[in-house]
Amino acid sequence: MNSNYEKARQRMVQEQLIPRGIHNRAVLEAMARVPRHFFVEEALRDQAYGDFPLPIGEGQTISQPYIVALMTQLLEPQPHHRILEIGTGCGYQAAVLAAICTQVYTVERIKTLLARARRNFDRLHCYNILSKADDGTTGWPEHAPFDGIIVTAGGPRVPQPLVEQLADPGIMVIPVGEHGMQALTVIRKEHGEISSEVREQVRFVKLMGAHGWHDE
Ligand code: SAH
Repeated sequence: MNSNYEKARQRMVQEQLIPRGIHNRAVLEAMARVPRHFFVEEALRDQAYGDFPLPIGEGQTISQPYIVALMTQLLEPQPHHRILEIGTGCGYQAAVLAAICTQVYTVERIKTLLARARRNFDRLHCYNILSKADDGTTGWPEHAPFDGIIVTAGGPRVPQPLVEQLADPGIMVIPVGEHGMQALTVIRKEHGEISSEVREQVRFVKLMGAHGWHDE
């Protein structure tokens, strides 16, 4: 049973990630190690390593493995990094980051999802993840600045508090655009300058909140 998941996970790395340009060794190792099937409900476990997103309840989704790997690689994560994630969801992306970086902070606005993510972190002994239920578009000022910030929901613009809470040097990866279609955007802060680069088109659930969407 477990070795089937293990095999599916190795296949995911070999067939979905490496051929599409995921080359960062730490990212590939983390994706090969973190048990994605733990993070989805029982009925969906056999599909956990498929090349698609899956529902996690509350109308939210866990991203396709390739998108998780791509966003993690774009963050250029280092072992000493402290990373902020907005949109904990089921906790999978946070667990991948926690396998690479010293400390992960993650914020989720839906309490029931956060409670489930916390149970997943405990079961997997992810002790370097600190989480809270809140509007993540205002960041987590008490722990700023962050070497990397990853936003796993799509908003109309880049929340200014997140730009301010990014370290120098620092990298933020965030989907920006309309409902149902965003451009994965990489924001860099270096020597006091901010630059931004637009990457592939992606489709994320909505980033709600003070610096996100307000309808709903
Ligand atoms: N990274 C997650 C994917 C979660 S989907 C994973 O690996 O499973 C996006 C999540 O962002 C949803 O759970 C949604 O509730 C959350 N979200 C949306 N707007 C938010 C906000 N302003 N602050 C915190 N979380 C938010």
